[in-house]
Amino acid sequence: MTLHIPFKNTYVNLPNRLFSRQKPYPVRDPKLLAFNQPLADMLGVTGTDDAQELAQVFSGTSLPKGAAPIAQLYAGHQFGNWNPQLGDGRAVLLGESNGYDIQLKGSGPTPYARRGDGRAWLGPVLREYVVSEAMHALGIPTTRALAAVQTGEEIMRDRPLPGAVLTRVAASHLRVGTFQALAARQDTEGLQTLMEYACARHYPEADTPAAFLKEVVKSQALLVAKWMSVGFIHGVMNTDNCTISGETIDYGPCAFMDAFHPGQVFSSIDRHGRYAYGNQPQIIAWNMAQLATSLLPLENNSDKAVEEFTHIINEMPGILRHHWQDHFAAKLGLSDTSDSDEALITQLLAIMTDLKADFTNSFRHLTDSSVPETELTPHKDYAAWHEKWAARTAQQTIDPQNVMRQANPYIIPRNHQIEAMISQAVSGDFTLFHGLNTALEKPFDTIAEHGDLTTPPTAEEKVTQTFCGT
Ligand code: AMP
Ligand code: MG
Repeated sequence: MTLHIPFKNTYVNLPNRLFSRQKPYPVRDPKLLAFNQPLADMLGVTGTDDAQELAQVFSGTSLPKGAAPIAQLYAGHQFGNWNPQLGDGRAVLLGESNGYDIQLKGSGPTPYARRGDGRAWLGPVLREYVVSEAMHALGIPTTRALAAVQTGEEIMRDRPLPGAVLTRVAASHLRVGTFQALAARQDTEGLQTLMEYACARHYPEADTPAAFLKEVVKSQALLVAKWMSVGFIHGVMNTDNCTISGETIDYGPCAFMDAFHPGQVFSSIDRHGRYAYGNQPQIIAWNMAQLATSLLPLENNSDKAVEEFTHIINEMPGILRHHWQDHFAAKLGLSDTSDSDEALITQLLAIMTDLKADFTNSFRHLTDSSVPETELTPHKDYAAWHEKWAARTAQQTIDPQNVMRQANPYIIPRNHQIEAMISQAVSGDFTLFHGLNTALEKPFDTIAEHGDLTTPPTAEEKVTQTFCGT
């Protein structure tokens, strides 16, 4: 049986200034490293039993029937600085299947590549595969990974490294930066078409720019609250890495925190901590303000629109805080929450900050009543906090542990384990890669054989920086 992808491509019907036709480049010796069969099923992809054929197609070496490959245009604010022309420099969208984008990343240069080689090396491809699928299993909206293929070619980074291609699946690849690109070109007609397209794909109820903005704000507020609830730091929340759909995109210098600190930064290029863990709520509102600005030309009465859009943006912190409270309350076993629970949450986070406690394990140990002594026990405020918490959970009829087991993962993809997996993969051994993928399919289950994944890094293993050099 041959591979069949039921493509129904809509983006190519948009004004052609939004993209460039671009075929992926063939690679020398494609080898399939991973294929996500459940995701393929969701996409309606059939005939997936021939690994060699999958390697050919998902390396970009042979084009599947029905594909209409394009590189998408976008712009964006990178670390707050305006860049009028970004775009897919090393990715092509093959088309859409069951409403989802199927995109090859690392498939060769495009007209937007500037000086880049259009390629990706194995490390970031495997990192994105593992982390994006783990995010999905954690219940966090995200782009997904359909396939990882090694190219059999070496690419030059700080040293020669094995090349690879990731197949990314997304509800769409529309970004805040896509809107910014058209707004900057004063292309009001294109903006209107793009907004209608985005609404049709993601927010069919929205019928005005304000309604559309409100929906994106709601999705992104929920997303960032979810990130916070698992200790996730995106690392590069530029407006081009901020989706309209509300999915997490672009797993470059991202990381899950081990030791808790709100000021934690990982990205080697984030020198001023713009994208630190605790800054993410402010940054997402800033990004939404950029979206609002780019939608202004769609309104005839700009004074009224400024007022209305400002109101929507000003409401975002409250919406996010509400989700944040809900998610952290669940982490404490509370099925519903009120403002008075906020102190309970912030006091615990303060204790964790003081102790540099492991974020995931602290919450998981609270969840698991068979762990009476936790790493939080030594803190002078912990006993009093614990008493207050016990009194609060006693007010509800449901068992707090039932709520907590769904809210506090047993395992997350820890950075040092990802790094170990990448080093091993570069030497040709994919045992850790497959092991991580399998374990992270069920992050909330206490499975003894995955116990090593709960271990925080030793001082030598600690990853203090992640790199964009992808
Ligand atoms: P990112 O930091 O991954 O969000 O990428 C920022 C921009 O750089 C995007 O326009 C990418 O397409 C582009 N880019 C990143 N790496 C490469 C590469 N190796 N070749 C061409 N373009 C790249
Ligand atoms: Mg990006």
